[in-house]
Amino acid sequence: MIMRIIFLGPPGAGKGTYASRLSPILKIPHISTGDMFRAEAASGSELGKKLHDIMTSGALVPDELTVEILKERIQKDDCKEGFILDGFPRTIKQAEMLDQATSIDVVLNVKLDQEILIKKMTARRVCKDCGNIYNIADIRIGDLHMPPLLPEKEGVCDKCGGNLIHRKDDTKEVIEDRLKEYEKKTAPLIDYYTKKGLLKDVVVAGGPDMMIPRILEMIGK
Ligand code: ADP
Ligand code: ZN
Repeated sequence: MIMRIIFLGPPGAGKGTYASRLSPILKIPHISTGDMFRAEAASGSELGKKLHDIMTSGALVPDELTVEILKERIQKDDCKEGFILDGFPRTIKQAEMLDQATSIDVVLNVKLDQEILIKKMTARRVCKDCGNIYNIADIRIGDLHMPPLLPEKEGVCDKCGGNLIHRKDDTKEVIEDRLKEYEKKTAPLIDYYTKKGLLKDVVVAGGPDMMIPRILEMIGK
């Protein structure tokens, strides 16, 4: 059965971590526009330089460019059985343009407190080569326990041996701007997909080992 999934939610909520773990289970690709933009930025191209400046300011990349890149990606062969979108769409305009290109089966809205988001994002580490995500924070608030996601060897990616880095846009100032951008431009998508009957809330209650089975159950897998 074809499964086209969107992960919605504020930056740092865990969309990328969940999407990357679900991808091999569901055998559909994990598509992160943020990862695609970072790869382009790392290439040093003219476009990459522009993307780098936009991203490090916490602002969004223009809709037309983002949709063009995304549409091209989902037309590839490996998307025939579906895909998991992480970080797209981020505006109503993007969602409307996506609707013209394909149909979506479910939108998973990841919910997490703002205070925890900031804690998690400042403690996030990313593999500079493959993008795999780690986290050094050990968060315990009431019943919520989010254990750290550590690599076997400090500073080194388990998957590919690449160096782990702290993203330039994962500093407190930029994070606050990204959260504002989210509230203003992306949060309206919650209503948009609720009206279409596609939205399911994923209330984060622990680390990915607890949440992945829950998500699989929610989508009937
Ligand atoms: P996070 O991991 O915090 O969710 P992402 O890696 O998804 O962040 O995105 C990083 C940056 O890339 C964003 O702050 C934004 O500048 C840009 N970006 C990613 N996806 C989109 C999109 N769909 N539309 C516009 N800009 C985007
Ligand atoms: Zn890696």
